[in-house]
Amino acid sequence: MASALTDKLTRLVKEMRGQARITESNVQDMLREVRMALLEADVALPVVRDFIARVKEKALGQEVLGSLKPGQTLVSIVNRELAATMGEGVSDINLAAQPPAVILMAGLQGAGKTTTTAKLAKHLIEKRKKKVLTVSGDVYRPAAIEQLKTVTKQAGAEWFPSTPEQKPLDIARGALDYARKHYFDVLLVDTAGRLAIDEALMQEIKELHAAVNPVETLFVVDAMQGQDAINTAKAFKEALPLTGIVLTKLDGDSRGGAALSVRQITGAPIKFAGVSEKIDGLEVFDAERHAGRILG
Ligand code: GDP
Repeated sequence: MASALTDKLTRLVKEMRGQARITESNVQDMLREVRMALLEADVALPVVRDFIARVKEKALGQEVLGSLKPGQTLVSIVNRELAATMGEGVSDINLAAQPPAVILMAGLQGAGKTTTTAKLAKHLIEKRKKKVLTVSGDVYRPAAIEQLKTVTKQAGAEWFPSTPEQKPLDIARGALDYARKHYFDVLLVDTAGRLAIDEALMQEIKELHAAVNPVETLFVVDAMQGQDAINTAKAFKEALPLTGIVLTKLDGDSRGGAALSVRQITGAPIKFAGVSEKIDGLEVFDAERHAGRILG
């Protein structure tokens, strides 16, 4: 897909070169190709529309019409806009808080929250030399609490026990208290997720957020959700002040469009990508590289 777009744009650039004047219709032809490529990459339609509108506005301004190499200029506008939307460079986890720095993990069930919590614990231990505690507020699925216990052990972090009989708020407060008393640098709070967006659950996570005052509120989202990721992203953005995104299961998604959709809808930077089921399958997200993957 990616190289196909590059080929198409190159051909259109060549056609444009033979013309004395660049018309709005040349630009439209190229934008159509870009639009198709984004849709093929599974970027959500409203996000594609916005993106094309922004490129068009720039392209039909002096930038392209007045330039000596209008085709190339248009391609570079597309690339620049993509980079601007995706965010530039990489952004690591923010731990600038009175310890323990609390990180709240939010997202739908199955998105990869628990796995990511452990991966992040390992990352913070190994790369940032932090003392890390994890806790699960998923009182609806006892198996989820056990799962966190298992993966936390693999990560080499400490797990704070919780039970389905407890209230998530009490669990979180208890863990925070323990983390303070035992000088943990970071407390990772894994939360419950339903299969679909659920009002009661959103209310619960909002209260949890208010109680633990996290320095990072990470939205964990499955890249394979493709276009559907925007609805989930919208709901979580409305409920919580998201500070970052973790895009999971990128290893199973060759198209990469969810990144652009989620990034545009939430405005939050994509901080990490999940690239395998294993505990070390977490990469710091490289926005520029990913932009290249979408458009080629
Ligand atoms: P949660 O319900 O949000 O806590 O999701 P889990 O952490 O239980 O993950 C759901 C499933 O997705 C599990 O089978 C994980 O092994 C798998 N998973 C999570 N992250 C990744 C990833 O980056 N790549 C792959 N291939 N699988 C992942």
